[in-house]
Amino acid sequence: MKCNCGHQSSGQENSSEIEDDLKAKKQRCPVCGGKVKKVSSDVVNTFANKEVKYIKKDTNHYICLEHDCKVAYFNEKKEMITIDDIRMPIWFKKGADLVIICYCNYITKEQIREAVRDHGLKSWDEIVLHYRKRKNCACHKLNPIGECCTDYFYEIINETLDKLGKEGVIKYEI
Ligand SMILES: [Zn+2]
Repeated sequence: MKCNCGHQSSGQENSSEIEDDLKAKKQRCPVCGGKVKKVSSDVVNTFANKEVKYIKKDTNHYICLEHDCKVAYFNEKKEMITIDDIRMPIWFKKGADLVIICYCNYITKEQIREAVRDHGLKSWDEIVLHYRKRKNCACHKLNPIGECCTDYFYEIINETLDKLGKEGVIKYEI
């Protein structure tokens, strides 16, 4: 599994993981019935408030991907963590007051727009280094869906360029 921002993630794609992925495709959110994605217990640990009673071991964990649903994470025992029980907003959930796109470097949607608009920056690297001294990458643990943010990151770059009447960029593969 290769991370889009150029780092090797620690997740190993072995056969049991592929089996789990297939299982996740059949899983649905217990509340809204919407689409979900399997995440690691590391991700749940990063986002869940410490006081929340929720089984973190010996079960698979999923995130509900629906914008309108209050469920953040749930496990196979159907225990849930809602968006009121998390320490950082999940960017695609309704009511997220802060839209963080890159959780590893704590870069918001607004900061990406500003970097493109006011500083002419057009890549993940340039924009991260504009705000941070160095690039951090631990998507498998820090991103709410456990995936690299670059797809969404580049969507915002291109949306902003489009508004400025400029040509979009292609996410470059490393
Ligand atoms: Zn849901």
